[in-house]
Amino acid sequence: MAGKYPLFAVTLERWYERHKRDLPWRGTDNPYRIWVSEIILQQTRVAQGYDYYRRFIEEFPDVASLAAAPEERVLRAWQGLGYYSRARNMHAAARRVVDVYGGTFPTDYADVRSLKGIGDYTAAAICSIAYGQPFAVLDGNVFRVLSRYFLVDLPIDTGAGKKYFKSLADELLDRARPGLYNQAIMDFGALQCVPKSPACEDCPLADGCLGLSRGRVEELPRKARSLAVTDRYLVYFFVVRGSGVFLHRRGTDDIWAGLYEPYLQEFASRPGTDEILQVVRNVFGPHVQGVRLLREGQKHLLTHRRLWIDSYRIDVDSDFRLPGFEEIQIKGIGKYPMPKPIVELFQRMAGGELIPRP
Ligand code: SF4
Repeated sequence: MAGKYPLFAVTLERWYERHKRDLPWRGTDNPYRIWVSEIILQQTRVAQGYDYYRRFIEEFPDVASLAAAPEERVLRAWQGLGYYSRARNMHAAARRVVDVYGGTFPTDYADVRSLKGIGDYTAAAICSIAYGQPFAVLDGNVFRVLSRYFLVDLPIDTGAGKKYFKSLADELLDRARPGLYNQAIMDFGALQCVPKSPACEDCPLADGCLGLSRGRVEELPRKARSLAVTDRYLVYFFVVRGSGVFLHRRGTDDIWAGLYEPYLQEFASRPGTDEILQVVRNVFGPHVQGVRLLREGQKHLLTHRRLWIDSYRIDVDSDFRLPGFEEIQIKGIGKYPMPKPIVELFQRMAGGELIPRP
């Protein structure tokens, strides 16, 4: 049966039947596919996620094929989506499903929640949509709809706020159709009750919406703190020797963990020409045959960081060695997972030609 406010659930479900998006992961009760779609869609626009989902499922159609794949192949399939820890966590979770559960996706909420990279939200989405279990999802869309409709002022990024919204979401859940209800409220937040200028004049919940009647819609949901964004200044040196380029694999304690990149120096502020030339002299020394600016001031946004990237091509002679780096043939670099800005820079180096895919 519907939860404490049955009309709320029924209105959302009716709205959903008319407006739901036709997405490739809809209409399935396959937990693996629901899981993949939810992870891809976390902080990815649906339009972009659509193609990635199709390609990912084509390459890894089930949990066993994902578990069996080498990590580099998984990261390569993920390339461009960002948040690479999500791909690595999925890969580790798939291996656990194979090792511990014999390749069958677990059905118990606590088991699902214990898999790497699966938090409350994803576990609730999988268990409700795949198995019809009564777990309410709580993501940015749901916070927004609930805070506006019930005029909840509590900040959503505090312990008290989270607890309150969690219990409100649980009360509202349609326990007879938890998967349908969860998808309905998520789509409602994504399409109707959007962050800026929601379509209140055309909203089936408008009559009971306290945020609307009190004129508070635009200021909800509230947050206690806005996350500070820090600037980082990176300079990449694409060291080229003949038809090869020097790359290494990043460690796991920073952004872009496990991806390949050229030689990098990070600075506290935007470096001047003198500092760049000093690096060129110190690192590449007498082996340098040419230095060329590839791109200046390339901006790349991550969740809490703004990256400013300058990049140079350094041609070196045949005696040059760079410890810890592999020399890779440029025509074969398409099979190495790399951060998006690096892919763009390689494309620029190749005169706009796409790097050949494996
Ligand atoms: S009336 Fe406006 S604020 Fe209220 S639920 Fe509908 S779209 Fe959201």
